[in-house]
Amino acid sequence: MNDDQSRALYDRALSVMPGGVNSAVRAAIEPYPFFVRKGDGGHVIDADGNRYVDWVMGLGPLLLGHDLPEQVRAEIQRTASEGPMYGTPTEVEVDLAEFVVRHVPSVEKIRFVNSGTEATVSAVRLARGYTGRNKIVVMQGGYHGAQESTLVEGDAENPKPSSAGIPQSFAEHTLPVPFNDEEAMRDVFENHGDDIAAVLTEPILANYGIVHPVEGYLETLREITDEHDSLLIFDEVITGFRVGGLGCAQSHFGVTPDVTTFGKIVGGGFPVGAIGGRAEIIEQFAPSGPVFQAGTFSGHPVTMAAGLETLQFAAENDVYEHVNRLGDRLRSGLTDILADQAPNYTVVGTDSMFKVIFTREGPSAGLLEDQCDAGCVQDPDCPRYDYCPKNAADVKRAETDRWRRLFWGQMKDQGVFLSQNQFESQFVSYAHTEEDVDETLEAYKEAL
Ligand SMILES: *Cc1c(COP(=O)(O)O)cnc(C)c1O
Repeated sequence: MNDDQSRALYDRALSVMPGGVNSAVRAAIEPYPFFVRKGDGGHVIDADGNRYVDWVMGLGPLLLGHDLPEQVRAEIQRTASEGPMYGTPTEVEVDLAEFVVRHVPSVEKIRFVNSGTEATVSAVRLARGYTGRNKIVVMQGGYHGAQESTLVEGDAENPKPSSAGIPQSFAEHTLPVPFNDEEAMRDVFENHGDDIAAVLTEPILANYGIVHPVEGYLETLREITDEHDSLLIFDEVITGFRVGGLGCAQSHFGVTPDVTTFGKIVGGGFPVGAIGGRAEIIEQFAPSGPVFQAGTFSGHPVTMAAGLETLQFAAENDVYEHVNRLGDRLRSGLTDILADQAPNYTVVGTDSMFKVIFTREGPSAGLLEDQCDAGCVQDPDCPRYDYCPKNAADVKRAETDRWRRLFWGQMKDQGVFLSQNQFESQFVSYAHTEEDVDETLEAYKEAL
């Protein structure tokens, strides 16, 4: 596979951009990332003309794939051609807000911003403003964007910044606990309950290998936060409008958060974030409340049109049926392949998300017939239950180097573009086909 153009572009990029990229994870591909020339349905074509089946899909935003349906594309182009933006409201912002409020159970009001990071920054400020408390509880290894309150590692009694440039005194207000660990959550509330503004978590850890909640865990979070008058914030930047269809993961699990952050799909492939929730809480944002929040580009007409048209298209067509069916086909195909070739490895994901975690241990081969057949859902009756990752530390113990240094490149050489490392999710789009799935499964067979 020729990559002269990508190499030359990366050479130029290194001279003018840190690490040659505009987002850190993009440089995870070694020795250098391939540069994309254009998308084509469920595929991308790189600067050297190589074609890949694309399961990265922009790292989550592209529910419909690279070729937007005609009605979606036409509306985006019409909106852009009328003038980029205005600094005063437009109708399409109201339309998209109404759509989200109509479909997502917990959302009565919503504010749009420009990225998932901005959404979680604003949600944390909102929770602090609403409760008058300082601390937030997050999940170890959880990702909520590149922001001060969540780039924190360690544990609840010893939190430390996970990036240079963040004062220790900021990190002290963030309490990381392991996902799926009810006791750790009870402990942190026992010790700090009166000062905890919110628990901030993804309903499914989707940035750390894909970890499904164990039965009852999200319900427990709801109970504990209620008992202590803290807020429960679901970060649905990835799961929103992907897991559970238009109702999002909260409707899939039947657990209602106080506040939800959105991003990715809700902007239809353009920069976006949003904070939605109970009216009484969201009303705390300026100008109706005292929590300052503003943005020049917020509610950008082109983004709003792209988000609205994407979601309306999904509401009117078999989008979720298609992506979830192909997701099932991928996960169950992978389950069969692993049973033969790598019985220790675990298939994870649900709906249109999938991944193989290179776990080091699994049940004995004789028990594999009874395992979850289309991705780990933390079923206590599955023979893999004691081995499947329950939190970020479990994922980190997997063969992450093998995944990144050997496996990823073997898939790329076969024309399959997977996410850059063991931790990022992979996504099915409406543009993917059964042939894409079968070709990908064949490539897994070769590479594993
Ligand atoms: C991607 C992501 C973010 C950050 O969104 P950006 O648009 O990259 O700033 C926040 N939370 C979760 C769960 C994400 O997956």
